[in-house]
Amino acid sequence: MLYRFTNYLCAVMANENTLQNIISHCKEYGFIFQSSEIYDGLSAVYDYGQYGAELKKNIRDYWWKSMTQMHENIVGIDAAIFMHPTVWKASGHVDNFSDPMIDNKDSQKRYRVDHLIEGFADTLEADKKDALLAQMDTLLAANDFDGLKLLIETNKMKCSISGTCNWTDVRQFNLMFKTEFGAVADGEDNTVYLRPETAQGIFVNFLNVQKTGRMKIPFGIAQVGKAFRNEIVARQFIFRMREFEQMEMQYFIKPGTQKQWYDYWKETRMKWHLSLGIPASKYRFHDHVKLAHYADAACDIEFDFPIGFKEVEGIHSRTDFDLTQHSKFSGKKMQYFDNDLDEATGKPIGNYIPYVIETSIGLDRTVMMVLSEAYTLEDLSTPEKKDDRVVLKFPAMLAPIKLAVLPLLKKDGLPEIARALMTECKPHFNCFYEEKDAIGKRYRRQDAIGTPFCVTIDHQTKEDQTVTIRYRDSMQQERIPIAQVRALVQSKIMGV
Ligand code: ATP
Repeated sequence: MLYRFTNYLCAVMANENTLQNIISHCKEYGFIFQSSEIYDGLSAVYDYGQYGAELKKNIRDYWWKSMTQMHENIVGIDAAIFMHPTVWKASGHVDNFSDPMIDNKDSQKRYRVDHLIEGFADTLEADKKDALLAQMDTLLAANDFDGLKLLIETNKMKCSISGTCNWTDVRQFNLMFKTEFGAVADGEDNTVYLRPETAQGIFVNFLNVQKTGRMKIPFGIAQVGKAFRNEIVARQFIFRMREFEQMEMQYFIKPGTQKQWYDYWKETRMKWHLSLGIPASKYRFHDHVKLAHYADAACDIEFDFPIGFKEVEGIHSRTDFDLTQHSKFSGKKMQYFDNDLDEATGKPIGNYIPYVIETSIGLDRTVMMVLSEAYTLEDLSTPEKKDDRVVLKFPAMLAPIKLAVLPLLKKDGLPEIARALMTECKPHFNCFYEEKDAIGKRYRRQDAIGTPFCVTIDHQTKEDQTVTIRYRDSMQQERIPIAQVRALVQSKIMGV
């Protein structure tokens, strides 16, 4: 048992080191900075730097294209962050968007109950762990807070700071951020919320899009945008942020077909993940036992992060809950008239409130997934010389910079040739020009930001119009005509 536990700790420490290395690398190479860093940062809020912003944009664009351009029946919208406060009453967020929390009385540290129990369960042997998690799921499903506290106490779960088991009762904590709208007028409630999910912007626009786009069921509405949650557990880098971006799609379907479409979207979304070049062994599905108040089926796609298998995307069969609620609260009929013929009666099917399958993926979590998969520390030592390199092995279509153009020397007309290649390629993809330092050093800097191709212009280029192209992952080099560079890079960065 002790041996197993020590092994477990070593594995966790190795993984935490990987996460720490990734965090440091992201800072050093301009991917991700802590927000307001010069003021010591703001907890669980991050800024994307020059390469991080490009990486994030490429992932966003890839998702957007595969959802909208590649599906003739899915359109994209861009709804406002602020919404009428009644939206959140109708959706259930005002009353239900909360997590059960518990505080340690000695350290004052607050924990999400499921995270505290899961963390403890990770230290147990597999069968005990499964039994404990099953107990937790049952208690959570029943909202049995006394039972959850008892479970924590009887298992002697300790606070990581105080090391004691001195716990408060379990309480609900609402995760929505509130602010005030306009000038405060006496007696008026001006409270508005920063949206905790982008989905509601889609639901309230259901009729607008369906009618103006003459959309026929089944059809989808996609959206990418910021969401805000006052998360209690605010650590783990960009995995859990208080301000983050979601990429969501609501697929409107005929009631009764939800099982078929739920399965379809589970499979389709997993294919999308695999198309990022990440092996299937790094993913798994996790089916929900405790379903949210709006769902009749739900699962997560989990990725094997350096902190273990964790959710990156949720797929939810949301029934007609949201449209029904908005019909009730707004007084507007959120219906669809289906003029397909009913098989039994031969008459048009008529009006119904559509059911919905939702796919919801965190953009920042996807950035962290892609970074975790790409980050590689390679030992290149030879008997003569110690050497290593950090390389980000991004798929070429997601890399922030696609091509580095490097004249070997700053003279003899080499920069002019390099500049001409830049001018040719720049309109088509992101290029980087650099003439400083030895070529080996320049290659390593490009490896560290994940540039898949480097092209070196040397004296031979002047004679035979060829360049050396170096491939990031294999580090192999070959000579190709300069006239072929643009087409070669373009062929490798095509997405979807
Ligand atoms: P978790 O259980 O990790 O809190 P969730 O089940 O509450 O996540 P959803 O409400 O299903 O998450 O949101 C959909 C997606 O949005 C998640 O799969 C995740 O990728 C992303 N997401 C949710 N909360 C955060 C956050 N605080 N920071 C970054 N991404 C988030």
